[in-house]
Amino acid sequence: MAYVINDSCIACGACKPECPVDCIEEGAVYTINADQCIDCGSCAAVCPVGAPNPED
Ligand code: SF4
Ligand code: SF4
Repeated sequence: MAYVINDSCIACGACKPECPVDCIEEGAVYTINADQCIDCGSCAAVCPVGAPNPED
């Protein structure tokens, strides 16, 4: 399991400093390294547009 950032990401950068394992990469749309994500939900909690979601 890992969180995934969808296309609604506006690249605001709010999620990146909240990640305890620093697995969020900057970009036109931010991305999460699925191998490192520990599924904590911190990124989703701060995202203004609800872009990060748990992958089933
Ligand atoms: Fe980082 Fe947690 Fe978001 Fe995974 S769910 S990318 S570990 S903040
Ligand atoms: Fe994208 Fe949300 Fe992260 Fe901002 S907080 S960079 S909108 S995923």
